[in-house]
Amino acid sequence: MTFSALGLAETLLQSLKTLGYKTPTPIQEQAIPAILEGRDVMAAAQTGTGKTAGFALPILHSLATDGIKVGSNSVRALVLVPTRELAEQVHASFRQYGEHSGVSTYAAYGGVSINPQMMRLRRGVDVLVATPGRLLDLYSQNALKLNKVQILVLDEADRMLDLGFSTELDAVFAALPKKRQTLLFSATFSEVIRSLAKARLRNPLTIEISPPNSTVKAVKQWMVPVDKKRKTELFLFMRKDRKWGQVLVFVKTKRGADELVKVLHAKRIKADAIHGDKPQPARLRALESFKAGEVQILVATDVAARGLDIDDLPQVVNFDLPIVAEDYIHRIGRTGRAGATGEAISLVCADEAPMLAAIEILLKQTLSREEEPGFQPDHRVPLTGAAAIAAVAAKKIKKPKVAGGRSGKKTPDNWVGFDSAPKRPGARPAARPGGAPRSTGKTGQKPNKSGSR
Ligand code: AMP
Repeated sequence: MTFSALGLAETLLQSLKTLGYKTPTPIQEQAIPAILEGRDVMAAAQTGTGKTAGFALPILHSLATDGIKVGSNSVRALVLVPTRELAEQVHASFRQYGEHSGVSTYAAYGGVSINPQMMRLRRGVDVLVATPGRLLDLYSQNALKLNKVQILVLDEADRMLDLGFSTELDAVFAALPKKRQTLLFSATFSEVIRSLAKARLRNPLTIEISPPNSTVKAVKQWMVPVDKKRKTELFLFMRKDRKWGQVLVFVKTKRGADELVKVLHAKRIKADAIHGDKPQPARLRALESFKAGEVQILVATDVAARGLDIDDLPQVVNFDLPIVAEDYIHRIGRTGRAGATGEAISLVCADEAPMLAAIEILLKQTLSREEEPGFQPDHRVPLTGAAAIAAVAAKKIKKPKVAGGRSGKKTPDNWVGFDSAPKRPGARPAARPGGAPRSTGKTGQKPNKSGSR
């Protein structure tokens, strides 16, 4: 299969040639013809599958060839994304692919002044990539009309819902014309995504590129139990001991990211952080330096790292486990791409056992435990998943000392730890079939809507 066989305009083929894209990826092969036909599409595809070109190319083709001119303050294709970084990145892709197409593109997101965005929109843009909050700001200030939108894309729709944008999405849908083409892309097809698609898409073609809720096979995933206070020390030890090169490190909080970078700087290790408190230019600079190999360790929070085009990293380290189990899949998608093998290492302390259990249920696999000599934790990390069931069955284990014990502390319903492990050998754990419930509500923490986690 070639791109020209897909019927794309010559101007687009020219850009693809410059970029060195030779053959369409599987999602592009399926999505491009359907989108060119005008069909709605619902696609489960993770970052790294080529999904952006999968929707950008047919949109550019349609807009370049339909002979319609965009009016002032109007938009013909609207691409909604969860974060500023993804907006930049998706917009950059549209620009690259559409360089010779004559289609105008623009990105609008929060955290920067709204005035230049209002000015630019006066002339109208063919393709607007936007985050939902800023889009509605522009709409409510009459800087933008949505009644001429021909194509709507929801990119990383699962993430938009995780970030609490569902009210904003409802408001956007209310302002859009009923007759339009809608394309929904999501890393996973959760129940809530399916019901969104049912309500908003018309007879969509469903594409599933990798099985939902599964991780890239070439990634070796394992966890190291460790006491919380020794995580930094363990990370530094493993980096040196295993001669890691560039590593992307995920942490839970902005403060955690800054603190780790401070320690790394003190050790003269080139490191930088990306998180929601950093201004957009600083985040992009950090990313560029990392890609250019000038920064060895990039420390990121989930929202800041979402959608960033970083791939083929040999190691991704989960310094903290994510609060939302699905984020684990996004995180480790940064390694082991395009046939390369990768490692995803999680440093897990006792408090994080419920999160580990939620991740393992989502993955439908138990992460192998590899204790690091000299770093065995004082606070034992309770066994989870199959290991917990086996241990309970064999009556080999004692009660854990801390979290997950009988302290009355909340754990997810599906946690296969001591409190919820079956008493009878062979009995099934209390896991919901088809995936884990969001761990968000259980931990009492709400993801930050503004993308500042
Ligand atoms: P995405 O999944 O859209 O984030 O794309 C991941 C990466 O794959 C990006 O760096 C794209 O530039 C690249 N890419 C997308 N489609 C192709 C293709 N057909 N051939 C080669 N590279 C591609």
